[in-house]
Amino acid sequence: VAKRTPGTSMALAEARFALGSSDLLAQEQALRTAIVQRQFSLHYQPKVEAWSGRLIGFEALARWQRPGFGPVGPGEFIATAERTGLIGELGEMLLRLAFEQVKVWRDAFDRVVPVAVNVSPLQMLDGEFPRLVTRMLDEHGLPPQAITLELTESAAVANLDLARDQILQLRRLGVEVALDDFGTGFSSLNMLRSLPVHTVKIDRGLIEPLPAPDALAVVRAICQLATALDLQVIAEGVENEAQADAARQAGCQVLQGELFAQPLTLGEAGDWLSESVSDLMRLT
Ligand code: C2E
Ligand code: MG
Ligand code: MG
Ligand code: MG
Repeated sequence: VAKRTPGTSMALAEARFALGSSDLLAQEQALRTAIVQRQFSLHYQPKVEAWSGRLIGFEALARWQRPGFGPVGPGEFIATAERTGLIGELGEMLLRLAFEQVKVWRDAFDRVVPVAVNVSPLQMLDGEFPRLVTRMLDEHGLPPQAITLELTESAAVANLDLARDQILQLRRLGVEVALDDFGTGFSSLNMLRSLPVHTVKIDRGLIEPLPAPDALAVVRAICQLATALDLQVIAEGVENEAQADAARQAGCQVLQGELFAQPLTLGEAGDWLSESVSDLMRLT
C-alpha cells in the first residue's frame, strides 16, 4: 500500500491536470465562439458627483450573454481570455461597444456621455494600444474625454515603466486613465507616484467598512494623498447613505455603487439618461 501511494497520487494529479487543461480548452473554444457571435454586451453603472449627486458618466461592465447560461459576469471570463490570448480581440470588441454606445447617445441626446472602460493590463501594455484608441476616437468622431480607461493596480505592477509610457501616450491624446481597485494591492503608494493617472478608484473593500473610524482614516489619507498629487478620487461600491456620507467627508469627489444604481442594462441606462442628461457637462 505504502508503495502504491505516490503512484496513485501522481495519477490523480495528472488526471486533474488533464481535466484542468481540457477545461481550459473547452472554455477557450466557447469564448472563441462567443467572440465570433458577438455574445457580449456592456452594462452601465452611473457615477455621480459626490456633493451634488449629479450624473457625470458611466462605467461599462462586460457581460457575456452565454446561450443556456444567462448573463455571465467578467469574473468568469476575463481571466480565461487573458490566459488563452483572446483578451486582445475581446478587449477590442468591448472597447468598440463602448465607443459605439457613446456615439449613439451623443446622436440621441446631443451630449457626450463619458464612459469608463476597464482594460486588461495585457491590452494596455500592447504597444499598439494608444494607436487603437486614437483610431476608434477618429472612427466615431468623439473627443478624447468621451472615454476613460480603468486599469487595476495589480495589473500595472508587472511592468511599471511600460505602463507609465503607455499611460503618458494616452494622456497626450487627452484620454484619462484611472487606477482601479486602489488599496487592494501591496505597492499602491509607489504606483500612485509612478503612474501618470488622472483618477484613483478606491476599492469597495475599503468603502464597505465605512463609517468605521479606522476605515475612515484610511480613506481620508488616500484622499489627502491623491489631492496632493492632483488626482481625482472615486469611491466604488457605495451601498448605503452612511458610506456615502463618510466617503464624501473623507474627500471623495465621485461616488459609484448600488446606493445610486446597479450596473444598468442598455435600456435602463437610456432611461436614466433621459432623466438626467442635462446634468452632464457639454463636451461638444
Ligand atoms: P471593477 O472595475 O472594480 O468594477 C466594479 C465591480 O463592482 C463590478 O462588478 C460592479 O458590478 C460591482 N459593484 C458596483 N457597485 C457595487 C456595490 O455597491 N456593491 C457591490 N457588492 N458590488 C458593486 P463586475 O461587473 O462583476 O465586474 C468585476 C470586475 O471585472 C471589474 O471590477 C473589472 O475589473 C472587471 N471588468 C468588468 N468589465 C470588464 C471589461 O470590459 N474588460 C476588462 N478587462 N475587465 C472588466
Ligand atoms: Mg473598473
Ligand atoms: Mg473598481
Ligand atoms: Mg473592484
